[in-house]
Amino acid sequence: MAVIIDGKAVSKKILEQVKKETEGFGKKPCLAVIIVGGDPASKIYVNNKRKTALELGFESIVKELPENISESGLIEEIEKLNNDGKVNAILVQLPLPKHINSEKIIETIKPGKDVDCFHPSNVGKIAVNSEVFVYPCTPKGILSLLEEYGISVEGKNAVVIGRSNIVGRPLSMMLVNKNATVTLCHSKTQNLKEITKSADILISAVGKPKFIKREMVKDGAVVIDVGITRDEQGKLSGDVDFESVKDTVSFITPVPGGVGPMTICSLMQNTLELFKQQNQRFWKK
Ligand code: NAP
Repeated sequence: MAVIIDGKAVSKKILEQVKKETEGFGKKPCLAVIIVGGDPASKIYVNNKRKTALELGFESIVKELPENISESGLIEEIEKLNNDGKVNAILVQLPLPKHINSEKIIETIKPGKDVDCFHPSNVGKIAVNSEVFVYPCTPKGILSLLEEYGISVEGKNAVVIGRSNIVGRPLSMMLVNKNATVTLCHSKTQNLKEITKSADILISAVGKPKFIKREMVKDGAVVIDVGITRDEQGKLSGDVDFESVKDTVSFITPVPGGVGPMTICSLMQNTLELFKQQNQRFWKK
């Protein structure tokens, strides 16, 4: 029986540290979130971010903009936040309405305030393994979980399934930077089972319930399930057939309660980190 990785507990512990550290400053880290339109799921995510930020003693700005805002109007709003000395971290909640070019919007965020690490210049820094402002939230949360459970990635075969810009792509680069041997799989990958069977660490970010079956996983592997799918009753499922896989692996994350809580936790760590970077000279005085 595997060790069940408790993302809720790890996240709680890290957030307590963030809160404690924040109390030590005479100034509040400030996270600004922009939400465009009224998508209910996005609203829930943004409310959770705001609630957590306030609980930690951060300042929280939420800019709710109308669905029909123009691209240039949105760019203007981001520029205001870029130039506002009080704002340390900026997040634009995705997805954006179809008439707005998300890439252009992400490129407008000042790289030093890009709390999600989505800006191409920040992603490029990960690619060349140079110093970044902060790491993207979900990949960072996954590496925090591995670290917390004493799981080293160095020299291991790590297989990542899913090549999105928010999870799989940056995570695979971060694993390479930590000396793992990485295979990045996607929908055009052939012989997926052969590849996943070779994984010491298997990370799935696909979004298909029960996609990872027992016969695809090596005995003793570490399994990290990033997938979140909500059924009609609102029940959450991961990518991994948890019940059949959990008996043969060494570590496994549940859904919910695994990677999920780590994403918001990393977001708060990143906000504090950007705040410290921007105030470095001030603290040193
Ligand atoms: P995404 O944009 O939804 O893309 C899915 C990825 O899976 C794509 O790269 C796709 O390949 C690949 N894929 C689809 N079918 C496949 C197959 N049969 N075999 C191999 N690969 C396949 O990815 P995402 O945004 O990273 O989201 C993935 C899942 O993670 C979703 O369930 C999402 O809700 C969840 N998620 C969770 C968190 C969290 O905090 N826990 C954060 C972010 C995302 P192609 O590129 O070839 O299309």
